Amino acid sequence: MIQGSRNSKSFDVIVLGGGVMGLWAARHARAGGAKVLLLEKRQIGSGASGGFLGALMPHMPDNWNAKKQFQFEGLSCLSATIRELEAEIGIPCGYRRCGRRIPITHEKTLPQVERRIEGARANWKGDFGLQIVSDGEGTQLFQHDTLSARINPRAYLNALTVSLKDRVEIEEGVDVTQIGETPRNGWVRLSDGSVLQADRVVVANGYEAYALVQPYFDGLNDGKTAGRGVKGQAVLLSHRHGDDYPIFYHDGTYIIPHGNNRVAVGSTSLNEWEGRDTFDSDDMDFLDKALSWAPHLQGSEIIEKWAAVRPRNTLEGRGTEPWFGFLPGSKHLFGLLGGFKISLGIAHLASRPLSH
Ligand SMILES: Cc1cc2nc3c(=O)[nH]c(=O)nc-3n(C[C@H](O)[C@H](O)[C@H](O)COP(=O)(O)OP(=O)(O)OC[C@H]3O[C@@H](n4cnc5c(N)ncnc54)[C@H](O)[C@@H]3O)c2cc1C
Repeated sequence: MIQGSRNSKSFDVIVLGGGVMGLWAARHARAGGAKVLLLEKRQIGSGASGGFLGALMPHMPDNWNAKKQFQFEGLSCLSATIRELEAEIGIPCGYRRCGRRIPITHEKTLPQVERRIEGARANWKGDFGLQIVSDGEGTQLFQHDTLSARINPRAYLNALTVSLKDRVEIEEGVDVTQIGETPRNGWVRLSDGSVLQADRVVVANGYEAYALVQPYFDGLNDGKTAGRGVKGQAVLLSHRHGDDYPIFYHDGTYIIPHGNNRVAVGSTSLNEWEGRDTFDSDDMDFLDKALSWAPHLQGSEIIEKWAAVRPRNTLEGRGTEPWFGFLPGSKHLFGLLGGFKISLGIAHLASRPLSH
C-alpha cells in the first residue's frame, strides 16, 4: 500500500542517505523550495563521508576529458561554497587550499610532468597552476599543484546538517529496502513495510545504493552489477606542522595536513572485505610506506584508526565514472552514485540540478 506521507506529512523530495551526497541533495532541493525528507539507515555521517582524510585533489590536468572538467569546476568553486556555508551557520569546515606535492623520483618522468604543466595552463582556469619545485635543501624535486585543498569531513558534514535544521526533516535509523516509481511519482519501501512517495526520490546511500538501483541498470549493464563497495582504511596522526604544509602523495598513499596539528595518512583499497567499518590492524602497510618516504612523521602518535566503504561504479561504457542524474528510464528516481575517492570535492555540484 502506498501512503502519501510520513507522520501525516507529505514531501516533494525523499533523500536516501546522510553522507555528503545526501546532505547536499537535501540542501539544494530545499533551496529550490521543495519539502524534503532525508532518511538515514544509521546516523548522519556514519558512512564513507564521516572520516578524517578530506583530500580535495584534482585529476591530472593532461589528457583532459569531461570527468576532469566536472571535477575541476567542483574543486575551483568549493572554496566560495564553503565560505558561504560557514558564514550562514558560523561553523568552520576546516577547509584550506594547501596544494599538493608529488615527489619526482626519476628523471624519466619529467616529460610527463611537463605535459601536466601544459595541461594545467590549458585546462585549469583561474589562479591555479602546476610547477616543479625543490625541497629546501635542493635534494628532491616535486610536482606541486596549487588547486588541491583539504577539508575536515566531519566538520563539513556537521555544518551541512546544521544548515538543514528546521528546514529539512531528517530521520535516522530508517532503512530503505526498495525503491520504485509510478507514472506520477517515486516511492520507497522501508524495512517495516511502509511505503512513502514523493515527486523525486534521491538515491544517495553510498555503496549500499547498488542493491536498490540494480534493476534500473540491468539492461544497460548487461546484467552486471552497477557498482560495488571498495573498503579503505586510514589513520590520523598527531604531528606539529605549519600552515604551509601541503598534501603529499607518493606510491598510492596520501599525507593530508589538518588543523590542530593533525595529519591523516591513507588509504587502502579492498574489493573483497568483511565488516564495513572494522579496522584491520594487520593491514597497516600503507602507514609503513608513508613513514619510509616521509620520515618526519616517524614517532607520531596514532590518534584514530578508521575504515569505511566507498561507492565505485562499474558501468558498461562509462567504467568507474560517477552517475549523477535520473536512473536509466526513470522520471522520478535520481541517483548520486559512485563518487568513489572524490565525492567531497564534487557533491555540491553533482546535486545542484536538484535545486530546480
Ligand atoms: C578510507 C577512505 C578515504 C577517503 N578519502 C577521501 C578523500 O580524501 N577525499 C574525498 O573526496 N573522498 C574520500 N573518500 C571517498 C568518499 O568518502 C566517498 O566517496 C563519499 O563519502 C561517498 O559519499 P556518499 O554520500 O555517496 O556515501 P556515504 O558517505 O557512505 O553515505 C551513505 C549513507 O547512506 C546510509 N544508508 C545506506 N543504506 C541506506 C538505506 N538503505 N536507507 C537509508 N540510508 C542508507 C549510510 O548509513 C550512510 O550514512 C574516502 C573514502 C574512504 C573509505
